[in-house]
Amino acid sequence: MTAPFSWIRPEPWGIHIVPADIWVDPSRAVPRALVTHGHADHARGGHGTTIATPATLAIMELRYNTREGAVAAAYGESVALGGGVSATFIPAGHVLGSSQILLEHAGERVIITGDYKRAPDPTCAPFAVTPCDIFITEATFGLPVFTHPPIGEEIGKLLTARDENPDACILVGAYALGKAQRVIAELRAAGHSDTIWLHGAMEAMCRLYEEHGVALGDLRLVSDAPSKDAMRGAIVIAPPSALNDRWSRRLPDPVTAMASGWMRVRARARQRGVELPLIISDHADWNELTQTIARVNPQETWITHGREEALLRWCELSQRRARALALVGYEDEDD
Ligand SMILES: [Zn+2]
Ligand SMILES: [Zn+2]
Repeated sequence: MTAPFSWIRPEPWGIHIVPADIWVDPSRAVPRALVTHGHADHARGGHGTTIATPATLAIMELRYNTREGAVAAAYGESVALGGGVSATFIPAGHVLGSSQILLEHAGERVIITGDYKRAPDPTCAPFAVTPCDIFITEATFGLPVFTHPPIGEEIGKLLTARDENPDACILVGAYALGKAQRVIAELRAAGHSDTIWLHGAMEAMCRLYEEHGVALGDLRLVSDAPSKDAMRGAIVIAPPSALNDRWSRRLPDPVTAMASGWMRVRARARQRGVELPLIISDHADWNELTQTIARVNPQETWITHGREEALLRWCELSQRRARALALVGYEDEDD
């Protein structure tokens, strides 16, 4: 008999499932990997075999231009990994295709959440609470100061800014995978049916979302605009890196906005020269993290990928066993 849970081993570059010799979201290339979702800090290229949801594989194919060794696993389908271990992909509510991964071995159940959120998102399947013995949670926004307002409020601010600046455009910085499509889908849900203009770096991912059934309405490339004037009174979406670079000079008097959970921190908005901070995050905020741990109610919580200390302390105060994992190589491509 081996010790409980000795089959799952956190290493600095990922979580190793020993009897199956497979890694979850490894930060370096390995022979076999399970990948929770397509953000670059989780989905590296170059693995021998990658097991992920069909949407995550499509995102990786788009980004790395290869489909070699891809094995698709649908939500809810149990995949035998060898060594008596099985994996089941469960929606994580983070971005299209994002998953928690339930690993089962010798009657023990471990869930690795990847990144997740509990707030509604029209562009992906919602997080499903699933019982387990060990719950390995992210903690990107693991401080009580981080509370994300309802997205409707933030979308309302964006539409108000647009109404108040009919001769300008509102330039929204948003990550190309997930955030951009969520902002667009929420604008559509709020009744905004005008053309939304895109930076070229957004185009392929928006098309991929549409191919996976997420309607985004009338999108056009800024590079195809007949004139600056065509974009007056419009909303333009670009990667955060484009907000202050030469590219934005082709826009009519842009008001700079940014959609990110970090916009809760005023200094961050100021640093980036953001005039209209929009607190829109694809991660669980403090309340979602603590409520999710309470709902899942595991024997043990392992905390990774962010601000571990405060959540560790919260677990202790609520009599929950917990430990912090020191994984490296996870940065916020997404927030
Ligand atoms: Zn992510
Ligand atoms: Zn991440």
